[in-house]
Amino acid sequence: MADSTVSEAGSGKRFDMVIAGAGYVGLATAVSIRQARPNLSVAIVDAAPAGVWERDGRASAIAAAACRMLGRLDCWEEIAPEAQPITEMIITDSRTSDPVRPVFLTFGGEAAPGEPFAHMVLNRVLNGALRRRATELGIDMIEGVAVESFETGSGFATVHLADGISLETRLLVAADGVRSRLRDMAGIKTLHWDYGQSGIVCTVAHERPHNGRAEEHFLPAGPFAILPLKGNRSSIVWTERTADAERLVAEDEIVFEHELELRFGLKLGEIRVEGPRRAWPLGLTLARDYVAPRFALAGDAAHGIHPIAGQGLNLGFKDAAALAQVVVEADRLGEEIGALDVLRRYERWRRFDTVQMGVTTDVLNRMFSNDFGPMRAIRDIGLGLVDRLPSMKGYFIKQASGLGGPTPRLLQGDAI
Ligand SMILES: Cc1cc2nc3c(=O)[nH]c(=O)nc-3n(C[C@H](O)[C@H](O)[C@H](O)COP(=O)(O)OP(=O)(O)OC[C@H]3O[C@@H](n4cnc5c(N)ncnc54)[C@H](O)[C@@H]3O)c2cc1C
Repeated sequence: MADSTVSEAGSGKRFDMVIAGAGYVGLATAVSIRQARPNLSVAIVDAAPAGVWERDGRASAIAAAACRMLGRLDCWEEIAPEAQPITEMIITDSRTSDPVRPVFLTFGGEAAPGEPFAHMVLNRVLNGALRRRATELGIDMIEGVAVESFETGSGFATVHLADGISLETRLLVAADGVRSRLRDMAGIKTLHWDYGQSGIVCTVAHERPHNGRAEEHFLPAGPFAILPLKGNRSSIVWTERTADAERLVAEDEIVFEHELELRFGLKLGEIRVEGPRRAWPLGLTLARDYVAPRFALAGDAAHGIHPIAGQGLNLGFKDAAALAQVVVEADRLGEEIGALDVLRRYERWRRFDTVQMGVTTDVLNRMFSNDFGPMRAIRDIGLGLVDRLPSMKGYFIKQASGLGGPTPRLLQGDAI
């Protein structure tokens, strides 16, 4: 099928692929496929009105593998001047009131010589670069309108939008986030539990430079992460029990900054909160299936995990790269891209990795988000041991770089 055409039924446009969700995962999937196969027509539908993404004040840790992929997709050059390399990471384990936070583990490593294992990037910078590339590649963007329902026939799926328009497609990809409505519409069940915790996200300005150092402090209510941004600024991901998190974000600025300072410390001088603060409820959500005929889940729609390891988005980039590779290879071989046996290759590739990461983050969160003395002793011995074993540290750097396990070609920096 070449460019989009009006279908014979006259119900709407027909595309080879329709992607629901213009988050990073939806955008990266569309760009990866269209760059490798310009013959495939691709549309992205997003419920959020145009321009909402520009107001996202959050930042994300982008692993080295995802940077390689963004380089191959001609996006990294635009992002790099705004990206802060993470050169070192320290991990501590203490109570909020402790005067000193002993460092149990230090990572200072590179994915390859001269290649930091991760960068911090503002979400709007990342989204902007992917959107610019999507436009260059002629991907249709339909914004401010949600996918309301869909049904799959033998030759294509029909996707109904909230404005009454229908699209026909050979493959519908749901990249519509952790509360995916499309996943429910497809009848795919999930394994889900709430942690009873929320992640407070905000940006702070401080007097002294962070020198690229990221910090994760394990406190009784959950991890408190300080992630370096460009200049004397850091992004905070601060886990608290949900009721406490809601109370804190609603607090007066002075009270909020005081509570923040108790956890942040004074090593970088005085701190000041910049912009809004928001709390995100945290849970584990794992889809039982990733695919159905003419349908695939990607990103948080397939797996929502705890941000304790900062890997949610990176798992999503892996999905995008793996799905693109499977679709592009199938199309080159003349196979039907929406056929279940083709999509099962993607599911087999990604499911083990995401379940493993979901379970790992779950165990870490349970182990570290408590103040039980014997558990504290065991985990601190464990951290100390890892700190003394270069091979273990090397393993963790590889995982943090997104280069562990069978890595799709784009994430290695290669073309599909
Ligand atoms: C506190 C916190 C901190 C985090 N920090 C990190 C980090 O440092 N590093 C990292 O790798 N990950 C991090 N994550 C995880 C990361 O933010 C998510 O994994 C990532 O945003 C998921 O991207 P996505 O594209 O799958 O979904 P989303 O970003 O949620 O995008 C979904 C899109 O779908 C659209 N949509 C929804 N419903 C419909 C519909 N019916 N029709 C059409 N469109 C629809 C929405 O408008 C939205 O644009 C963090 C998460 C949290 C909560």
